[in-house]
Amino acid sequence: MYNVRSMKAEEFISDEEIRETLAYADANKENVALIDEIIAKAKLGKGLNHREASVLLACEIPEKTEEVYKLAEQIKKDYYGNRIVLFAPLYLSNYCVNGCVYCPYHLKNKHIARKKLTQEDIVKEVTALQDMGHKRLAIEAGEDPVNNPIEYILECINTIYSIKHKNGAIRRVNVNIAATTVENYRRLKEAGIGTYILFQETYHKKNYEELHPTGPKHDYAYHTEAMDRAMEGGIDDVGLGVLFGLDKYRYEFAGLLMHAEHLEAVHGVGPHTISVPRIKHADDIDPTAFDNSIDDETFAKICALIRVSVPYTGMIISTRESQAVREKVLPLGVSQISGASRTSVGGYAEPEVEEEVTSEQFDVSDQRTLDEVVNWLIKLGYIPSFCTACYREGRTGDRFMELCKNMQILNCCHPNALMTLKEYLEDYASEETRKIGMKLIERELEKIPNPKVKQTASDHIHDIAEGKRDFRF
Ligand code: SF4
Ligand code: SF4
Repeated sequence: MYNVRSMKAEEFISDEEIRETLAYADANKENVALIDEIIAKAKLGKGLNHREASVLLACEIPEKTEEVYKLAEQIKKDYYGNRIVLFAPLYLSNYCVNGCVYCPYHLKNKHIARKKLTQEDIVKEVTALQDMGHKRLAIEAGEDPVNNPIEYILECINTIYSIKHKNGAIRRVNVNIAATTVENYRRLKEAGIGTYILFQETYHKKNYEELHPTGPKHDYAYHTEAMDRAMEGGIDDVGLGVLFGLDKYRYEFAGLLMHAEHLEAVHGVGPHTISVPRIKHADDIDPTAFDNSIDDETFAKICALIRVSVPYTGMIISTRESQAVREKVLPLGVSQISGASRTSVGGYAEPEVEEEVTSEQFDVSDQRTLDEVVNWLIKLGYIPSFCTACYREGRTGDRFMELCKNMQILNCCHPNALMTLKEYLEDYASEETRKIGMKLIERELEKIPNPKVKQTASDHIHDIAEGKRDFRF
């Protein structure tokens, strides 16, 4: 039944194949010769398939796990350097007709405040986000054909791109909305979106149906095949993710990699990003009600193994995770994080106060301001990046993958990160952040291998201090 090239969800995410994979992993989790062979293959930097990666996930030999962590750190350094791209979610509407049992936006929740941003509200929200320094957003909306039709989403994207406040601009809008039709994906592409993100939640079909008892999202196949329709509609950067804590993590992990393999096999390009959310407390949702939640150690191992298995795929971690957990997994391969997020509708312009009836989707663990996050990253030795260059240069899908595969990151992403950081420091940073940021830029400029690129980047950084903006390689 399993067929990586099939266009049917139940064939490219075959339950039977996942079960056999887990049995194979269990049978080999102490098979040191095989484990060494898999690690040696991973060292070549070409990734691992779901079976190989599942063996490493099942393996509990401490030295081997340590080797995986070290390798993840190395791959992260080789492919992504020390940059971390920053973004913020923007909640447009929490009207939703679905019945997802883990999300407070589900239809039957009557004590949550329902809100939908008007275009005027969006101007306020985006102005607030621009004033923090954000350049990249991920828009989020519940599924509701009456309140949030595709026309509403398209209008919002248009508005977001049109807002220019002081030196601010949103240069890339990623979209996280419900599975939809090829035609609607085409319209999103035409509206100039970056990545289309859709979390699978769980790859376990039976559990999926139980967790989504009502609404259009109940249809497992329609949801699971969404990325194929998105690609057919011309979107070539798609973002996968599962909500860890909904089903057994080893099952989800194998499913996630099978999905990535399917996209690569059929469309010639794997997922642009993978997100690793864990279930969180929220209005009328208690995460302890889900008995598959994973501890921090397992979470870190999953992050490391994703990095090792799909080296070219960016990995995103949100403010669902605390500062401490983020610090632990950053070196293991995370390439993008959100900062200063509000998970309520309209929360940037007017933050909700505790006692109010909330409209937020989940509790945020990392509550720091963007300046605090930038400052923290610099002190940890990372370059906070606001780069959006690839999408704006048309480097999406396989063209983006080429950049990664040719290891052009130090000549491309690295100077872009430094130039966008410089913009941030000039326009939005606190005095202290500016000081340490400038020192970091000076140090990091030296690492650009191509002398011509180095000189151009250095000139542009000088121009930015003089008031010019928006340079990119
Ligand atoms: S997870 Fe998405 S689809 Fe489900 S209730 Fe929440 S907003 Fe609606
Ligand atoms: S140059 Fe492209 S791949 Fe590199 S950070 Fe910018 S957008 Fe990402």
